[in-house]
Amino acid sequence: MANERESEVATLDVLIVGAGFAGLAALHRFRDEHGHSVQLIEAADGPGGVWYWNAYPGARCDVESLQYALSFSDELSQEWNWTERFALQGEIKSYVDHVVKRFDMARDIHFGTRVTSAHWDEESARWQVATDHGDRYQVRFLIMATGPLSTPYVPSWPGQDTFQGEIHHTGRWPHRPVDFTGKRVAVIGTGSSGVQAATEIGNTAAHLYVMQRTAHHIVPAANRPMHEGEQEAVKALYPHLRLSWLMTPAGMSWRTLPSDEFVVSGEESALEVSDEERDAAFERAWNYGGTAFHRAFNDLLTDERASALANDFLERKIASIVDDPQTAALLTPRQYYGSKRLILDSGYYAMFNRPEVELVDVKADPIEAFTAKGVRTAGAEYEVDVIVCATGYDALTGSLDRIDIRGRDGAILKQEWAGGPRSYLGVMVKGFPNLFIVSGPQSPSALANVLVANEYQVLWIADLIRYLEREGVRAIDVQAEAQENWVRRVNELGEASIYTKGSNWYWGANVEGKSPTFLCYIGFGDYVERCEAIVAQGYPGFVLQRDRQDALGETAGERTS
Ligand code: NAP
Repeated sequence: MANERESEVATLDVLIVGAGFAGLAALHRFRDEHGHSVQLIEAADGPGGVWYWNAYPGARCDVESLQYALSFSDELSQEWNWTERFALQGEIKSYVDHVVKRFDMARDIHFGTRVTSAHWDEESARWQVATDHGDRYQVRFLIMATGPLSTPYVPSWPGQDTFQGEIHHTGRWPHRPVDFTGKRVAVIGTGSSGVQAATEIGNTAAHLYVMQRTAHHIVPAANRPMHEGEQEAVKALYPHLRLSWLMTPAGMSWRTLPSDEFVVSGEESALEVSDEERDAAFERAWNYGGTAFHRAFNDLLTDERASALANDFLERKIASIVDDPQTAALLTPRQYYGSKRLILDSGYYAMFNRPEVELVDVKADPIEAFTAKGVRTAGAEYEVDVIVCATGYDALTGSLDRIDIRGRDGAILKQEWAGGPRSYLGVMVKGFPNLFIVSGPQSPSALANVLVANEYQVLWIADLIRYLEREGVRAIDVQAEAQENWVRRVNELGEASIYTKGSNWYWGANVEGKSPTFLCYIGFGDYVERCEAIVAQGYPGFVLQRDRQDALGETAGERTS
């Protein structure tokens, strides 16, 4: 196949990179709705993005299923049925496969193919794109739907090649059964992936070492089968509900239906109620499950004292579940509530009451290397058959950095971003015309219901491209001032938030050597409002170039719309 594709240079309107939800929504929009010629390139052998790769045991979405679904087709929304409040990876992957089949998408996707370079050609105002299969394309518009959490990260421990057993990263899980029965297993990392994987692996492993550096905040998922009639009620209201989610800070509602039981008010400060009232509110949110816990009060994510009160509640909960006081103390988060992403529990804490499950404190005794037999810390060697690295991702910039992207005057995106990403709206980067990023750095996607955010961005970009075509624009770029203002705003919001009060991937603190810059826009609803205002005002902040001369930049006179 590679050779067949090698010699031709395909000319297209749009090339999309990545067949996750963002890429699939883009393929539908550009090809089926706008009639563009489109090719989608995907490195994996199947569609789904993170839901393809994260096939580890226990992988489950922690956005409610009914809110984590594509909206572009009413028929699709009505015909698909979810089985549980929070869907397992397998069910989401089946949904993705259904979408691909139903909309005949596979004919325009090259799977198992990686985009290696994308160079802007000023003369033709097109991107010259190459893949590791020798394909070459020249395209007017390049859509990077490469995902915010798609490049796995493993610390540079020596000896990773010497280990005699199996090593798997949760974000590159093999598509074959991995049997843990009777095996000794180390799960390294206790973020969302590690907690989910360990909880499931603990059911069959002979011995499980959970290697924790930091205790994260964990509340019950309270997962359950769909209630009778629940799905039908949501489907009847989908257009209204989906519009309402666009106006929320996280692109979703803690109550899927407005008529759902009203459990948390989220209107009060945790500091302004009595101890009894506060505990009762936390308790209701805890029992309700899911990220509704954030909404128990209105200041848990903004006020350090409120955040500390949430920590106190969680500390008492952990002590009431985990029998061994030392283990309970170690599992208790010591950083601000909200400074690490909230994790949903399906039996994690209770698992530590079983003798075959052991919590290892790799903060006190750090991992130094992998050996032939297992994991060596400064003070011990843990002999295991399988190592599961749940060590996270080079978030937001990782997948873009790994492609040789060159814009105007040979500017290399990775170098431009060496001190942290710079963008306008998280969608475009100055000097990289006609290149659009979905779910990119400085967009709100990674802090929101990413599916809702992705679809919104895809529609916004598609509308912009239609506008450019109507206006006879050959290239769109970003004004320097607009980009600087956006970068400043992203950083100001980040610095004022609880997210920068802990070590996490939101600001690149999890990857050795990565520039510590806040990577997400805080406030999805606010973002939507700003993007809509930009459309209404005729796209301020962009430079629209109608002919070749315009491309020479300011000296030739920038034309902004
Ligand atoms: P993560 O949250 O970045 O967690 C990585 C874990 O690896 C942390 O516990 C980290 O410890 C640990 N680690 C990293 N380097 C280490 C070292 N040198 N020694 C010991 N431990 C080390 O990654 P993730 O769990 O894959 O989750 C990433 C994001 O993906 C989540 O925040 C979420 O947005 C998304 N996700 C969502 C779901 C879901 O929807 N349910 C599931 C999985 C992932 P420290 O905490 O000390 O840094």
